[in-house]
Amino acid sequence: MNIQTITKLLTDNGIETNEAKREISMLLEHFCNYTEKDRLMGKKLSEKDLNLIYEKVLYRVKTKNPIQYIIGEAYFMGEYFKVNSDVLIPRDETEILVKKAIDIIKANDLVDVLDIGTGSGCIACTIAKQTNATVLGVDISSDALRVALDNVTKLGINNRAVFRKSNLFSRIREEEKFDMIISNPPYIPIGTKLDVEVEKEPNIALFAEENGLYFYKEIIKQAPKYLKKDGWLLFELGINESEKVKNHMAEYFEEIKIEKDLAGIDRIIFGRTN
Ligand code: GLN
Repeated sequence: MNIQTITKLLTDNGIETNEAKREISMLLEHFCNYTEKDRLMGKKLSEKDLNLIYEKVLYRVKTKNPIQYIIGEAYFMGEYFKVNSDVLIPRDETEILVKKAIDIIKANDLVDVLDIGTGSGCIACTIAKQTNATVLGVDISSDALRVALDNVTKLGINNRAVFRKSNLFSRIREEEKFDMIISNPPYIPIGTKLDVEVEKEPNIALFAEENGLYFYKEIIKQAPKYLKKDGWLLFELGINESEKVKNHMAEYFEEIKIEKDLAGIDRIIFGRTN
């Protein structure tokens, strides 16, 4: 058994070469404590380690589970977050949203943030860790909230990011006012065909009614009630949704801006109450 054979098992099953290599190095680092540096220095892997990785790869190709679910962790903005099939895997694009939120929070000394559909808690935890703000993360899924709680404990910021079960604003009291509401809501139109790996992620985190717009509309409509004066609303955007979300936001918000991701796709939108 060697790494080439194991990598081939991935590529023979339709996984692109660079992705296969990346997945193998993630598995090696996680399960065998074998880093990229070890590889460059020519450190040998034991037969036991190789067999272990082979088993994981076999499971990966059989089940089509994303590698992050197999490892149980995903990297996001400098930290490893616990993930399982109850939560969406943090995406690189979401960094754009979180970085913008952090910039705004720091520039305006904001203190109270609400993260709707917190999932793994990656957004809430990163904001709490990198700013002075306290974040309330809400989610409809108790299973997701269990993961978010593990993450806040893992990062050692327990009283700075707190979590509550709530269907959007259902369990937020009207006297609780926030400086900022942020959300990476489910935004894929129902019926969209996805990669098998993506289909392993929770449906409720991915899909939205009304052509993907349902959660934007609901949050936009209700957000002003829960925002302080000059409060901020920030969203991650799905493909081709920026104009429609902007039009809805324009009913209640001002100074609306859209920013693109590295692929040139409109990826985030934000604005302020008046
Ligand atoms: N807020 C979480 C994230 O950005 C979950 C998003 C979701 O489940 N749609 O990863």
